[in-house]
Amino acid sequence: MVTECYFCKGKVMQAKIKVDFRWGRKLKVIENVPAGVCQQCGERYFHSAVYKTMEKLAVSRVKPTARLTVDVVRFKQAV
Ligand SMILES: [Zn+2]
Repeated sequence: MVTECYFCKGKVMQAKIKVDFRWGRKLKVIENVPAGVCQQCGERYFHSAVYKTMEKLAVSRVKPTARLTVDVVRFKQAV
C-alpha cells in the first residue's frame, strides 16, 4: 500500500473516489473506487486488483446507475 506520493512525497490517504476510466475512445465513470490519494498533489494510486476490477467493469454490460452526457471541447483562447 502506497503511503508516500511517488511524485511529491506528500501523504497518501485512502479514500473512495470517482474515476473517469478511459480505454480506447470509450469512457466510463466508476464511483466508489478505493484508492490512495495524495493530499498534496492529488495523484491517485490504485491497487492492481482494484485496477483489474475497474477494467472488467468498464468492458462489462453491467447496467449503469446513471448516464452522463459529456461535452467535448477543443482548447482555445477564451473570447
Ligand atoms: Zn503527491
